[in-house]
Amino acid sequence: MQKYDLAIIGSGIGGALIAALNKDKSHILFEKDSNLGGCASTFKRFGNYYNTGATTFVGYEENHILKNMFDKIKYVPNISESKIAIRTIQNKKVVDRVRDFEEFLTQIQENYPNENNRIFWEKIKDIDEKFWQIKDIHFAKYSLNSYIKSLSTFKDMIKVFKLDLLKSASSFIKETLGEITQGYQSFIDAQLLITVQSKSKDISLLSMALGLAYPFHKVFYVNNGMGSIIEEILKEVNVHKKEEILKIKKSKDSYVITSSKGEYQAKKIVLNTTVYDSKNLFGEKIKKYYEKFEFSDQSAFTSYLTINSKEKFLDHYQIILEPDIPNCISNSFFISFSKLSDEKMSQNGYSVTISTHTKVSTWKALSKDDYKKQKELTQNFILEHFLDYFDNISSEQITKIFSATCLTFQRFIGRANCGGKALNIKSALQIPSCKTPFEGLYNVGDTVFAGQGWPGVAIGVNILNKELNEKL
Ligand SMILES: Cc1cc2nc3c(=O)[nH]c(=O)nc-3n(C[C@H](O)[C@H](O)[C@H](O)COP(=O)(O)OP(=O)(O)OC[C@H]3O[C@@H](n4cnc5c(N)ncnc54)[C@H](O)[C@@H]3O)c2cc1C
Repeated sequence: MQKYDLAIIGSGIGGALIAALNKDKSHILFEKDSNLGGCASTFKRFGNYYNTGATTFVGYEENHILKNMFDKIKYVPNISESKIAIRTIQNKKVVDRVRDFEEFLTQIQENYPNENNRIFWEKIKDIDEKFWQIKDIHFAKYSLNSYIKSLSTFKDMIKVFKLDLLKSASSFIKETLGEITQGYQSFIDAQLLITVQSKSKDISLLSMALGLAYPFHKVFYVNNGMGSIIEEILKEVNVHKKEEILKIKKSKDSYVITSSKGEYQAKKIVLNTTVYDSKNLFGEKIKKYYEKFEFSDQSAFTSYLTINSKEKFLDHYQIILEPDIPNCISNSFFISFSKLSDEKMSQNGYSVTISTHTKVSTWKALSKDDYKKQKELTQNFILEHFLDYFDNISSEQITKIFSATCLTFQRFIGRANCGGKALNIKSALQIPSCKTPFEGLYNVGDTVFAGQGWPGVAIGVNILNKELNEKL
């Protein structure tokens, strides 16, 4: 049996980053899929490339945790800045999310007038800036040292944010903007759904600020597809692709791992599986630990298109409709176009990923026939509204379209849930830490602290790396 100090299960953002940071150790990384990157992968179908989920890359800027991490592994991504991070369209209202605060504020005031818009958006920006200035954010459990470090972060947060830390997003909206129109509320919620996967009624002010402020940072387009970043950072990592881990058994001072191809032994394990799916890998004792995390019934519906057009498009749009999308929990969808200059992604026309939010339970409850019908219904609804908003694209120019539900995500990357949990005071205390109560067993990814997307998962990786290296 091959023996390693460190085994990493999964090549999502979390698994890939922690592997790259520890590639000098005796290690192995397993990935069940044929593509690397999980929700941030790029796949090929019908001769075209598509981004599976993640399309925007944020956090590659000086003094940001992600940039520091990339510098550490000596990797410079092939990216171009999207000067307009997203164009948000709601009926006739168009707001371009640009970095320049005054330019953005003017557009907000024109489209969603409110005498306190400046106070509201300045506070959002201010909280976000202060958050990213906090050094050494730590959150881990199950050892005295971890608790002490977490307490120190908590103290820093209280010092920086004071009572704002206890505020809910909706109470802050009410106290600054007052009663706002449904349109403005939809605009705020649609932006939050793509960043924190929750609406303002369910989250804290801090989460709302981080979610709404991301276009004030540099937002990047990734040339050659999002998955190319993961492939590049894993270049010197011992990766076993298309090898699924089926069982893990704890022995006295190591773990025995059974995969679809063989057996291995590792002293330490990092699971990049979600905390909801990790239970399937273990016997009773460890299974019980994972079973205590209540399943977060959220996921994505994604449509992939190839469009034969030479028209110019921005990198990202968000369309906000009035009715909810059928089978979804949102009235908005997010569209990302490849750049025509991107020879890989645009080799047969624009590669477009459209995503919106749905529940796992909606799709799991359907019979096989109904599932097919409802999937088609949702895809057709999105397509119809997409064509409505882009009158320079005709249906004949769409040479390919197909979609994925949470069940597709489950089949390919072993997770039906996509996206983190709404972060509020109550859920913050229950959020899983990278460290588990079992010696040598860790988790990384968007279902553990600090949450989803490149910046959120990178914070988690940074914490995990400290915890791991204390022990290795
Ligand atoms: C539709 C959508 C759009 C998004 N857009 C953005 C965006 O624009 N920007 C952004 O920053 N974030 C975005 N996100 C969020 C971001 O993609 C995720 O938060 C992040 O990619 C999750 O990373 P992770 O580390 O949790 O790993 P995951 O993506 O969950 O990957 C886990 C990996 O583990 C593998 N695996 C699972 N089980 C096993 C097993 N038993 N054996 C071996 N391997 C296994 C899987 O195949 C997978 O590759 C989006 C997410 C979605 C769903």
